Amino acid sequence: MPGGSLIERYAVHLPVSQRTPRLTLGEGATPLVRAAALERETGIPEVWLKVEGQNPTGSFKDRGMVVAVAKAVEAGARVVLCASTGNTAASAAAYAARAGLACTVVLPAGQVAEGKLAQAIAHGARIVAVRGPFDAALSVVRDLASAGEATLVNSVNPHRIEGQKTAAFEICETLGDAPDALFIPVGNAGNITAYWRGFVEAARSGMARQRPRMYGYQAAGAAPLVGGAPVPQPETFATAIRIGNPASWSGAIAARDESGGAIDAVTDAEIRDAYAFAARCEGIFCEPASAASIAGLRKRARGGGLRDVRRVVCVLTGNGMKDPESARSLAGPIPEVDATIDAVRRALA
Ligand SMILES: *Cc1c(COP(=O)(O)O)cnc(C)c1O
Repeated sequence: MPGGSLIERYAVHLPVSQRTPRLTLGEGATPLVRAAALERETGIPEVWLKVEGQNPTGSFKDRGMVVAVAKAVEAGARVVLCASTGNTAASAAAYAARAGLACTVVLPAGQVAEGKLAQAIAHGARIVAVRGPFDAALSVVRDLASAGEATLVNSVNPHRIEGQKTAAFEICETLGDAPDALFIPVGNAGNITAYWRGFVEAARSGMARQRPRMYGYQAAGAAPLVGGAPVPQPETFATAIRIGNPASWSGAIAARDESGGAIDAVTDAEIRDAYAFAARCEGIFCEPASAASIAGLRKRARGGGLRDVRRVVCVLTGNGMKDPESARSLAGPIPEVDATIDAVRRALA
């Protein structure tokens, strides 16, 4: 992997030229890990997890952000701007700091995991919280950007989607082909759009022989693509996908229909269970939203919808350490006792 730079590695597939700065924090080239416990449970011969939480700021957003910020620098921008449920803000703030740009983030008040907020603060972003869901924050930053106040780096910026499609290339390179099916969480729907574009291009350029069926999963309380209409008050503990009106709506529908896949909902209980299962049975600590892909795989396998499938990939979009509060809620209080062998034994009994 030359230099650990995603832009350098995939330059021929990206909208970059010699003039585009080779900005990098070592993004991409994330592990694809075999999931033995999920194979046993589902009966699918091969289940793989794409561990996107291993990106520099702990989520897949870095793939798109490195391209979006590099292009902003190339165009002479001084400020980048985004709305975010947390990970876009963390990524934008880090790459802006790296590139010497200012960064402004607008967050839905009270709905951002603690670790993500810490990242945006540490990287020096200017932060404003607005009352309302993510969709209201996105609407505000779109207006600010069209007033010429900064370069918008949400996934409505086409460079984001271009960068994010590289994850599909990596999967094809590692497996020697595309999987039969891909399971992915869906919030604003940029990532499912990007993966589908990546798989289509991989098949066209000989990187893969086939294209996967795309299975996108929304949280039941925030499932506009499943219900077919925007959700004004989206609700789920998986805050990264707490989105009621996805910007890449049509991209998600195209990915579903062109691939012969589906977009479905999983309940918060199913997401929470998959989140704990990944950590306890596969050793992979992802964030709640990421586990929607595993919850979706389990639901579809249970329903008998995957009998013809041999090899699947679940995308684990972000790192569990970003959201300590959700992890903490998986267990009761930690006993505090005297520092004696008897007291510790009693507490463990
Ligand atoms: C952004 C994000 C998603 C949703 O991706 P979209 O492109 O908005 O559909 C899922 N999981 C995590 C951890 C995210 O940060």
